[in-house]
Amino acid sequence: MTRQPDLIADVSEILLTEEEIQAKVRDLGRRISDDYAGRALTLVSVLKGSLPFMADLMRSITIPVQIDLMEVSSYGGTATETSGLVRILKDLSSSIDGRHVLIVEDIIDTGLTLNYLVRYLRGKNPASLRICALLDKPARRLVEIPIDYRGFLIPDQFVVGYGLDYGETYRNLRFVGVLRPEVYTADPD
Ligand code: 5GP
Repeated sequence: MTRQPDLIADVSEILLTEEEIQAKVRDLGRRISDDYAGRALTLVSVLKGSLPFMADLMRSITIPVQIDLMEVSSYGGTATETSGLVRILKDLSSSIDGRHVLIVEDIIDTGLTLNYLVRYLRGKNPASLRICALLDKPARRLVEIPIDYRGFLIPDQFVVGYGLDYGETYRNLRFVGVLRPEVYTADPD
């Protein structure tokens, strides 16, 4: 029988509260606004996990920006592990040729997804390409990724909330929390 998720009970620990996240996003927005003043900036975010972060970050930025959205899926891994094989489900809508591009990512774990994305976007001739990641989980990094704007360093735990899912659920939590391991060991998706 399929287990019904319980958004609150399935989280064993709140790692980042809504207030901590919002304060950090405002701070990142201020820094990005200062650094990119006078430049043609495009924020590129990666669906679906980065959606709340992108929505909050863009509204914390006080200079003109364009936004674009990509959707990628990794395949060949498991529900909680990425494989590095990435498929583009939705590509950019507009050209980034000559624009300053900032990738807005929810979390960097092994770095394989972003490594692929950076190489892909570099091929589209942006004036510059940098990375803003809300969460950095360096314990399992397999490729070096220069993170220009980092929100929080987090330990090697599987987290959900503020866009991050397990089995497409938990994205609408306003905080970031640790998912009880029983949830994904008892019910492999
Ligand atoms: P990477 O390619 O860096 O290993 O992983 C990137 C993607 O894996 C993230 O965009 C996210 O979708 C997923 N991911 C990695 N760690 C976590 C985690 O702790 N929780 C959730 N929900 N997704 C994660």
